[in-house]
Amino acid sequence: MKLSKPQLIVNGKRIDGRGPQDLRQIKIEVGVLKNADGSALVEIGGTKVLAAVYGPREVVPRHQEQVDRAIIRCRYRMLSFSTLGERKSPAPTRREIELSKVIREALEPAVLSMQFPRAAIDIFVEVINADGGTRTAGITAASVALADAGIPMLDLVTAVAVGKVDGVIVLDLNEIEDMYGEADMPIAAMPSLKRITMIQLNGVLTPDEFKKALALALEGIDKIYQLQKEALRKKYVEIEE
Ligand code: ADP
Repeated sequence: MKLSKPQLIVNGKRIDGRGPQDLRQIKIEVGVLKNADGSALVEIGGTKVLAAVYGPREVVPRHQEQVDRAIIRCRYRMLSFSTLGERKSPAPTRREIELSKVIREALEPAVLSMQFPRAAIDIFVEVINADGGTRTAGITAASVALADAGIPMLDLVTAVAVGKVDGVIVLDLNEIEDMYGEADMPIAAMPSLKRITMIQLNGVLTPDEFKKALALALEGIDKIYQLQKEALRKKYVEIEE
């Protein structure tokens, strides 16, 4: 049930005090799980997502294996206690099944899967706390976890959502903005290659708004990309020193 729409922009500021072009506060931690081959925890505002990567490893069931490349499998899940309102049912929802596919397809172009024929790379994305942008935080976390697992990639994949709230193009929507805004456009890219690997649009943007939103998303992606690299460097360079 949607309650009446709150005012989302007051005196040029958003409900959480940000300007339209601001990201929420971001924290990225690498290698947070001992038993996974690679892992990362990404916090962006109130959204908190954990990604774990296993592989390259033997494919079970065997009939899924490909002779020329590794298969990449992904499961996105929201923990029951992750949502603001009612507890989410632990059974997989249609949304979770769809987002698992969306996240996998956003990451696949970066992974050099031809280097691991007959193998599987498994990615688990667990939403610990949901406050908008869980698919994009999941992609950002999963690509760091893939790097942490030592999986060769063309580039990291970095994602963020842009959208329109109260007629204003804004970066990195929170849950309320996502729920009551006019448009929400999650985007993922390989930043140094300048290649977009995912773009979705829920709502309506004019061609001009679309261009402005895309440019804003790419700026945000560049900032998050620096934080991903910094987090990886922090783990690996400090270990080497
Ligand atoms: P994304 O998390 O990628 O923005 P959506 O646009 O589907 O994906 O969801 C927006 C936000 O709505 C989520 O981040 C989460 O905060 C909230 N949400 C989504 N699904 C549920 C659910 N089943 N129960 C409660 N809140 C949800």
